[in-house]
Amino acid sequence: MAIRKPMVAGNWKMNGSLELIKEMSGAINNVKSKEIDIVLFPPFPLVSSMVLTGVCTGAQTVSENEPGAFTGEVDAKLIKDLGAKYVLVGHSERRSIYNESNTKVAEKFARAQNVGLIPILCVGESETEQENGKTELVVSTQIDAIINKLGVAALKDSVIAYEPVWAIGTGKTASPEQAQNVHKFIRDKIASLDGNLAQGLTILYGGSVNEKNSELLFAQTDIDGGLIGGASLKADSFIAICKSA
Ligand code: PGA
Repeated sequence: MAIRKPMVAGNWKMNGSLELIKEMSGAINNVKSKEIDIVLFPPFPLVSSMVLTGVCTGAQTVSENEPGAFTGEVDAKLIKDLGAKYVLVGHSERRSIYNESNTKVAEKFARAQNVGLIPILCVGESETEQENGKTELVVSTQIDAIINKLGVAALKDSVIAYEPVWAIGTGKTASPEQAQNVHKFIRDKIASLDGNLAQGLTILYGGSVNEKNSELLFAQTDIDGGLIGGASLKADSFIAICKSA
């Protein structure tokens, strides 16, 4: 029996529309069950509309600041008040395109938890880092940024998503064994500080997950579901992935 409830999260990135919300929420509401958490992360302007469909909703990023003079930024409390439950922090596109450092990601994580949102901390190595055998070091450093700032207990009300950067949007997926090894490394690392917390922690895999590879990935002991990009924009694919979890 699974110890942790599986989760499938769809990251729409800068895609989607009111029509897609209608189509996707209809499909999700048909397969929703107590056995699995299904969450969608639409762009900010669509968060409210998504919440209204009854589909569990998250935001793709959040400001690390309290409300104030930060033109274009979005406050965590506002996201929470709109009815969203989760927020992605440290997605590799935020880290690489918008230069978000580990320090900034930890600040966003803290701000999200302060208002009662559940952060999904995205971690993962680049292709060069992987080729140089640095995967564990990179992932470890990204997680330590949270532990050093907030203590290991902060990971209790959070989710971790392991997404190798070389697998995101490339069609190259980590093999189930490769992904399981990193997931186990993450869980063992956290277990060395708090065993119970580590056993209860949801760790998702992300990076070119589709309806063909999801079942084997999700069958791995330490993989509790997925963070899905491209395939979360097509109802048939996304629902098939949810059913495989
Ligand atoms: P992908 O994106 O499934 O399109 O590779 C995953 C992600 O960026 O979260």
